Amino acid sequence: MCGITAYCGNDLALPFLLQGLNKLEYRGYDSAGVTLLEDDGLVTVKCRGRLKNLEEKLSDYTLKGHIGIGHTRWATHGVPSNLNSHPHSNDDETISLVHNGIIENYRELKEELLEKGYHFQSETDSEVVVLLLDYYYDGDLFAATKKVLSRIEGSYALCIVSTFEPDKIIVARKDSPLVVGKVSNAYVAASDIPALLEYTKDVYFLNDYEMAVLEKDNIHFYSHDGKPIEKDMNTIPYDIEAAKKDGYEHFMLKEIYEQPRVINETLRGRIVNDKIILDELKDIDFSQFNKVYYVACGTAYHASLCGSQVLERVTKLPVIATVASEFRYNDPIVDEHTLAIFVSQSGETADTLAALRLAKAKGATTIAIANVLGSTISRDAHYVLYTCAGPEIAVASTKAYTTQLVLLILLAYYVAQKLNIEVNLQLIHELDTIPDYVNQLLADHDIYASWAKMLENLHDTYFIGRSLDYASVLEGALKLKEVSYVHADAYVAGELKHGPIALIEPGSVVIAVATQPHIAAKTISNIQETIARGARVILLTTEGQEVKNVENTYYLPKVSPTLQSILVAIPLQLLAYYTACIKGCDVDKPRNLAKSVTVE
Ligand code: GLU
Repeated sequence: MCGITAYCGNDLALPFLLQGLNKLEYRGYDSAGVTLLEDDGLVTVKCRGRLKNLEEKLSDYTLKGHIGIGHTRWATHGVPSNLNSHPHSNDDETISLVHNGIIENYRELKEELLEKGYHFQSETDSEVVVLLLDYYYDGDLFAATKKVLSRIEGSYALCIVSTFEPDKIIVARKDSPLVVGKVSNAYVAASDIPALLEYTKDVYFLNDYEMAVLEKDNIHFYSHDGKPIEKDMNTIPYDIEAAKKDGYEHFMLKEIYEQPRVINETLRGRIVNDKIILDELKDIDFSQFNKVYYVACGTAYHASLCGSQVLERVTKLPVIATVASEFRYNDPIVDEHTLAIFVSQSGETADTLAALRLAKAKGATTIAIANVLGSTISRDAHYVLYTCAGPEIAVASTKAYTTQLVLLILLAYYVAQKLNIEVNLQLIHELDTIPDYVNQLLADHDIYASWAKMLENLHDTYFIGRSLDYASVLEGALKLKEVSYVHADAYVAGELKHGPIALIEPGSVVIAVATQPHIAAKTISNIQETIARGARVILLTTEGQEVKNVENTYYLPKVSPTLQSILVAIPLQLLAYYTACIKGCDVDKPRNLAKSVTVE
C-alpha cells in the first residue's frame, strides 16, 4: 500500500520526491517522510499526517542533496506516528531506507537483533531491515542488501541509501510494486507510474526477487542472489495529463465522465466483422476446460459476478465467481482442466495475486484482467487482457469497473466463438453503441443529484435486484458506502421476505434495479411490498417496462439485457458521488481505504 519515491541524479532530489509522493496520494497513507543525502550526512524529515504537514516541516530545512528517498506510509505495524513514519535509519544514521509491505518474520529478527544489542526506535516491522543492514554491512552495501534479502520474509519494495556509498540507491522488490525510470540526468524509482510521468515515460518494471542499483548515469539489475540480469525498457503510452483532474472537482467525477471514451478504447480493435478478436488468448484451447473460476476483490469481484453469469449462459460451462481472500484459503478444486480468470484494476491486489499463484500451482490456465500495464498480476498470469481505462486515481473505482464489464462480456463471447457456439450478434453490434448511451445517461446528472438529497440524512439504505441486476446493486451499494459512508446493503430481491423486509419502515429508501426482462416484473412486485411499508423507492428499469406508482422511476435505454449492467452503473456511480458531495465527504480519498490493496 502507500508509496515510495527515489531520486539519484544531478539535480536536487527533493522536488522529484515530493511531486512523486503527491502523485501517489491516491494509494492512501497516514504519514510521510524523506531522507536526503546531504554534504554532512543523511537528513531525515518525517511526520504523521498529510503531505502538507511534511512540506511545512521541510520549510525549516534547506536540502540540497542529489540523492534521496521518499515514502508515504499506510501503517501495518505500529500506529501512525512521527516515530513510526519512514524512512528508518540505523543508530548512527549511516543507512536509511523506505519500505512498503510487511516483513512477516520481523518478530524473530527483532529478537535476534535485540540479543545482539540493537535497540529499536519504532514499532514498525520495517526497522528490522535497516538494523539488519547495519549488522551485515562490512564495506559492501550490495552484499549486505543481498544478505538481508535472504533473511526477510513477506512483501517489500525497498529503497536504501547510505553515506558509506554516497553515489547510489539500492532498490529491491517482492510482492510490492516498484518501477524504475530513466531521466536524462538521473535514475528514479517509485511504486507506480504516475509518480514518474512528469519526468519520464521510459521505465523498467522490477519483478519479484529482483533488485537494481541506481547511480546518476548508470543502472544495473540483479536477482536477489546477486546475479546480473538484463531488463528491457518500456515506454508508457499515456501522459501526465491523463493523471490530472482536467477541471473536474474530483477525480471520481472526471473518471465517471471518461467512461464513454475508455469503453471505446477497451472495445477498439476487438470486434471485427461480427467477430470478437482477443489475439492475446489465441493460443488457448478452450475445449480443455470443464470449469471456470472468476476470482477478484471488491468492485472487480462485482464485475466478475456479472462476467461469470454471462460466460455460463453463453457457453454452458460451469462457472464459479469467488472472492480472492476466500479462494486462497478454501482449498478450491482446481486442476489442469480449470480456466481461472483474475480481475484487478491495479494488478497488484495482494489476495488476488496469491489466489492466482495458487491456481497456477494447481495446474489451472490463468487469465489476468488488469488495468495497469506491467503490473504483477498481469505478468504472473499465463495470459493477460488489459482494460484501457487509463490511470484511475479516485479510490472508488468507476471507469475500471465498466471497462472490466465490457472486457468480461467480450471474453465470454470470445470463448463461445472459439467453442463454435452460435452467439447473439445483436449484442455484439450493440456494444459499439454503448459509449453513446453512456453519454446520454451522464446528461441526466441532475436527476441523480436530486435522488442524492433523499439519502443525505439517512444512516442506511437498501439496494435490491435479481440475476445480473444483483451484481449491479452490489456494486451500487459498495460505491455508496465507500464514498458517502451511508450504510448500504444489497439484497437479491427475492430474499427480501426472508429477513431484510423487517428493516423497512416509513422513510427507508430502497434502490431497485430491474433491467432483466425475464425477472424485472418480480423485482417490481418486491418494490410494492416495500412501498406498502412506507419505503421511498428509486427504481432503475428499462424503457417499455410497465411500472405503477413508483415515485422515482428512471428508464434506461433498452439494449440487450447483458449490456444493461454497464448502463446501470452510471446513475448508481453518480448517486454515490452526489451523496458524498452533499455530505462533504473526501470523495477521492475515503477514510480507511487505499486504492491499491497490496497487503492482505
Ligand atoms: N509495514 C510497514 C509499516 O507499518 C510499511 C507499511 C507501508 O507499506 O507503508 O510501517
